[in-house]
Amino acid sequence: MIPLLVSLSSIFPSIPSPSSFSTPRSIESFWSTFAQSPPPPRLQRILTASFESSLLSSHKASLAASPAALRAFISASHHTSRHWLSCLPTAPALTMSSSEFSLASRLRLFLPPSDALPLSCSCHSDSRLASDPAHFLSCRLLKDLRRVRHDRVVRLLSSLIHRIGGVCQVEPSHFPVARPDLLAFLFDQSFLVDVVISHPSAPSHLVRSPLPLICNKYAETRKVSRYSGSIPPSFDFVPFALETFGAFGPVAAIFMRKLDAVSRAFLPSSLPPPPLLASVSVLLQKCNAFILSRGVVLVRSSPSSSFPSLVP
Ligand SMILES: [Zn+2]
Repeated sequence: MIPLLVSLSSIFPSIPSPSSFSTPRSIESFWSTFAQSPPPPRLQRILTASFESSLLSSHKASLAASPAALRAFISASHHTSRHWLSCLPTAPALTMSSSEFSLASRLRLFLPPSDALPLSCSCHSDSRLASDPAHFLSCRLLKDLRRVRHDRVVRLLSSLIHRIGGVCQVEPSHFPVARPDLLAFLFDQSFLVDVVISHPSAPSHLVRSPLPLICNKYAETRKVSRYSGSIPPSFDFVPFALETFGAFGPVAAIFMRKLDAVSRAFLPSSLPPPPLLASVSVLLQKCNAFILSRGVVLVRSSPSSSFPSLVP
């Protein structure tokens, strides 16, 4: 029996029967029933929903053995994590190369950036690349590239604020204690923005509960605490938190909606509003892809690397 029929036969007994008809309990009865009469309305939807629910349950069960994979799955499942997948590449800022898209897709699926990697990283961490395929996003040897990723997101936000008619300064120095990433003026409002990007499957985050946006919320709280008392009351503080798998923190999402509202209210109707969420989302994945690709080069060039493939 082909795999699909095997899967279907395993879920048939658990499919709920709508009141209008009795769902067959086996493949054989399915064919004998509907060979004689047409299928009832919504049968395909009922079967697909049950099939997908069964797949999701078995996948969640398989994640129980891997805290890193579980956190990656929860983060990548958040609805704000997929703007880079749903936008059309109509501008350079929304365009990814084939290599970048491949690496970003592998990250989203929690797969290693390459099928041919050593078993461990050159940093000699406890993480095995097979059990933590996204290790390069938390590797201490690639810390400088994560800083570059942070700075590129800061500059993109600055550029987007300028495009919608605001004024923005990167790393303003006239606050005696705080050193936020951006000082932004949007007509009648002023903001201090500090960007933070967290990697939910990093070993340092595995102590946190496996909940949606847990790293973003933790980062927001930490930023608010850090800047507490050092920001003039006339400014709104925005802890702009992102997770590497793409999810926006609650405050960042609200800020992006605010930018979107301003762009729609004040830009001439002849100008299309800039794709704010998609721009940030695409840039984040492009930067992730760059870090992952440099990680591959790093471990392959290490003289101490044993080099059996992760793939048997
Ligand atoms: Zn490493």
